[in-house]
Amino acid sequence: MLANSLIELDRAHLIHPVASWRGHEASGVRVLKSAKGATVTDASGKTLLDGFAGLWCVNAGYGQDSVIEAATRQLRELPYATGYFGLGSEPAIRLASRLADHAPGDLSHVYFTLGGSDAVDTTVRFVSYYWHAKGKPQKDQFISVEQGYHGSSTVGSGLTALPAFHAGFGVPFNWQHKIPSHYAYRNPAGSSAEAIIAASLAALKAKVEDLGGAERVAAFYVEPIQGSGGVLVPPAGWMKAMRDACREMDILFIADEVITGFGRTGPIFACLEEEIVPDMMTAAKGLTSGYVPMGAVFLSDHMYQVMADAAGPAAVGHGFTYSAHPVSAAVGLAVLDLYEDSLFENGRKMGERLQAGLASLKDHPLVGDVRGRGMLAAVELVTDKAAKTPLPAAAKPAVKVFDRAWENGLVIRAFAQGVLGYAPPLCCTADEIDQIVERTRLTLDQTL
Ligand code: PLP
Repeated sequence: MLANSLIELDRAHLIHPVASWRGHEASGVRVLKSAKGATVTDASGKTLLDGFAGLWCVNAGYGQDSVIEAATRQLRELPYATGYFGLGSEPAIRLASRLADHAPGDLSHVYFTLGGSDAVDTTVRFVSYYWHAKGKPQKDQFISVEQGYHGSSTVGSGLTALPAFHAGFGVPFNWQHKIPSHYAYRNPAGSSAEAIIAASLAALKAKVEDLGGAERVAAFYVEPIQGSGGVLVPPAGWMKAMRDACREMDILFIADEVITGFGRTGPIFACLEEEIVPDMMTAAKGLTSGYVPMGAVFLSDHMYQVMADAAGPAAVGHGFTYSAHPVSAAVGLAVLDLYEDSLFENGRKMGERLQAGLASLKDHPLVGDVRGRGMLAAVELVTDKAAKTPLPAAAKPAVKVFDRAWENGLVIRAFAQGVLGYAPPLCCTADEIDQIVERTRLTLDQTL
């Protein structure tokens, strides 16, 4: 009864992110009521394994008492403190310092945002400020990678290279430039690491030339693993090769770790595994494990010093009311404690199990490709393995597979093109990982 009236209220008033508004009016909402560990329970009382950690964010799992207590304590003691006027709060300072200790290389300055999109926007503003400070304002062109996702804010959506984020919005928000993805399963250059890296380097250099040379190009944006594009893992050495090329051309290299950060691929940041130091790095999601909103921009010391010197006594005019929110920072500290105590280690073990389990699905007639790293993975469905024929879009495979998986007690991401996405909480047990794989096989059997 309650659920039905909620569904009507939702239809009438709540706009859902990245949804077909008409489709949603027809299908209605599934209301989630509670969650614990790696499971969520809906309004009908059905409990499901959350194989996607909400929206690849609840890395620590649901219902962690220490996180809830940290938030409650902070709400009682100091629910808000501005960072303006030279003020601040202890949790924000401590979190920035602990994150700087973990960050690659000289990424030792942290600007907190409310999530990933405004973190990406902040980097765009910092890039621009930096080049003006260096006396090179003509470096104003931005390049990213096809299939990439960098949020849906006004500027960041232009770095995003997924058509759904541009359809219907017009050109003004899509002035940024793209090079083809490394997408190994469907790369015209072939699937070898050398060929893919060579093709990406050539594409980047050609794009830079097209734009008038490196003196016009401000920055190149990458995700260490492309998440929303379908969990596309670049070959070993790709990140380093692109980073080195950017350094040679004096183009800033920005790593967007909004999904890959906080143990999702194994280490706290994927850049550490790639052994690269970007000029700036973004994070969000696992930073607070989704309990409260927060994102972060890591600014390298070399950029920080240039910008600080240029501003001198004047303000660097960038700020949000909720930057470095003390409750979010307190949650960030509590979550980091959990990660360091056991969750990073558990996530690494469970990540190996997840990758091996999903790889066992390769024998299934519908499975064309299985890829991923750690607790981040995808299964790409095809109707013909040899021809790599995608599932017909008109049959709405994403909706069907998502619904069937739900019936089987599993929440996964089903991307429109027939790719299944996995990003379970790092607290999963071995049995839960095995269940994710088993319920996927059952779902695929029912999809045939
Ligand atoms: N960057 C990447 C790589 C992301 O995956 C996302 C969100 O999924 C964003 C940026 C945007 O983050 P948010 O949704 O918190 O604004």
